[in-house]
Amino acid sequence: MPGSDTIAYFSMEIGLEEAMPTYSGGLGVLAGDTVRSAADGDVPMVAVTLVHRKGYFRQRLDAAGGQTEEPQPWSPEALLTEMPARAKVSIEGREVALRAWRYDVHGAGGVTLPVLLLDSDLPGNADSDRRLTDYLYGGDERYRLCQEIVLGIGGVRMLRALGYDSIRRFHMNEGHAALLVLELGFEEMKRRGLDEVTREVAVAVKPMCVFTTHTPVPAGHDQFPLSMLRRVLTDYGDAYNQRAVEFCLDNVLNMTYLALDNSHYVNGVAKKHGEISRQMFGQYKVDSITNGVHAGTWIAPQIQAVIDRHIAAWREDNASLRYALGIPRHELWAAHQAAKQDLVAWVNQRTGATLFSNTFTIGFARRATPYKRADLLFHDLQRLLALHRSAGPIQVVYGGKAHPRDGGGKDLIRQIFAQIAKLKGQLTVVYVEDYDIAAARRMVAGVDLWLNTPQPPLEASGTSGMKAAMNGVPQLSILDGWWIEGCIENVTGWSIGDGNAANGGGIDERAFDAESLYNKLETVILPMFYRDQDRYIDVMRHAIALNGSFFNTERMVDQYVRKAYFR
Ligand SMILES: *Cc1c(COP(=O)(O)O)cnc(C)c1O
Repeated sequence: MPGSDTIAYFSMEIGLEEAMPTYSGGLGVLAGDTVRSAADGDVPMVAVTLVHRKGYFRQRLDAAGGQTEEPQPWSPEALLTEMPARAKVSIEGREVALRAWRYDVHGAGGVTLPVLLLDSDLPGNADSDRRLTDYLYGGDERYRLCQEIVLGIGGVRMLRALGYDSIRRFHMNEGHAALLVLELGFEEMKRRGLDEVTREVAVAVKPMCVFTTHTPVPAGHDQFPLSMLRRVLTDYGDAYNQRAVEFCLDNVLNMTYLALDNSHYVNGVAKKHGEISRQMFGQYKVDSITNGVHAGTWIAPQIQAVIDRHIAAWREDNASLRYALGIPRHELWAAHQAAKQDLVAWVNQRTGATLFSNTFTIGFARRATPYKRADLLFHDLQRLLALHRSAGPIQVVYGGKAHPRDGGGKDLIRQIFAQIAKLKGQLTVVYVEDYDIAAARRMVAGVDLWLNTPQPPLEASGTSGMKAAMNGVPQLSILDGWWIEGCIENVTGWSIGDGNAANGGGIDERAFDAESLYNKLETVILPMFYRDQDRYIDVMRHAIALNGSFFNTERMVDQYVRKAYFR
């Protein structure tokens, strides 16, 4: 039942289950892990998102790595519970009715939290409006604005229709939900019997809102021309639209500023990202809460079985993963081998490749977009082949989707396919199609090393390396995002470069980073893996004990509770 301490968590995407394609990548997986940990910790939360009936997209790759996208239709009717309540928003002067599907997240201690998935596919709505909750990040700018109206404004109205009358905080997971600020102001205006939004109304809204910003990349910050906003958002009448104008620079509504200006607590998602955000948004107070991942979701069954033998109740107390240092080496190694054999069999079956389960295996998977530099490993093929021959054999598993309109990301996948062809017969590299939660779970547990090569400072946090760490898979990464906090050299993993961007930038920086990557593999990591296995397993144990025990959403949600929800 809705209580007065409820936290409403709004996110355009939430990764809930392998069978529900309601997420695109890191942001959605984080949202799902957040709700799972809130349920574990009995934090009163209701989550709001869209149903995305056609999903994000299914990735197809041709022989040259050319990506095409197919819809991923799924059936909310088969997996979710329809709620009786209805809400309405006004778009371009048309009334659009919304319903909500409920998904229950079950916590480790028996608590259940609802996720509400908003759906405009109702008879009575105009045909085009019925398609508004079909495609995650699909369509054009207008489509996106309509979706954000459904999420932000429709979401608040749906909560009210379901009896959530006194929500303690509205948490905007990224700016997509920021229009909820307008709806809260509208409610407050009516409550006070006013017909315009005064300063006092705005002052009353601010303590209700929490905003988490997720990216230092400008394309990650939504904005809409004011003329479009006036045409599409027809809910409040002209006088009230003045309120939106306050957040417009050059006649553009920036969702990030709307959220920043109206939240009592704002944070970035790692310490470094907090710093970068403070530089970007100088006039605002921006804190940081470093991301995490949900341990019970991301640790592979084979590794869970070992941890269960040695650590009591770690699912409800992730900090106790520190005791992983006491797990006998041979037990952890055997479990890791089992996870690796699973991955190898799965990849070979899916791709027709021949990976070997005794060869050192590198994993790289994340959204394909230029700043993540997925091709850095191939900067100098001769150098890579030389160390593969001299220091010990390597094989590599890649995965990742490019956003349909990210031409640079699509080029990158083709580029990797070209390198794969050049290495054929000498060094095996496979690119697994259609990277999703199911693929990620196998990959983060089944490789021997997780590789991460972003262009600093553009990786806000990154979370896949945290998933790997919990499975005892150490990371080799550029010092950016969470790795600045998580890397203890030779103890939890390894760094690429020295964390300074003072190496010239551009081409030189790329060469510098590539050389550092090759050098670490050749002189430190491969010799340790092949000739000093006990030490390698020590790094694996430290990855779980030091990083798994901290970079989890249990600790993260606790910090949100203390800093943002109940303060
Ligand atoms: C964890 C995850 C991501 C995010 O990975 P990053 O390292 O943060 O880029 C993306 N996609 C899927 C399917 C994931 O599970």
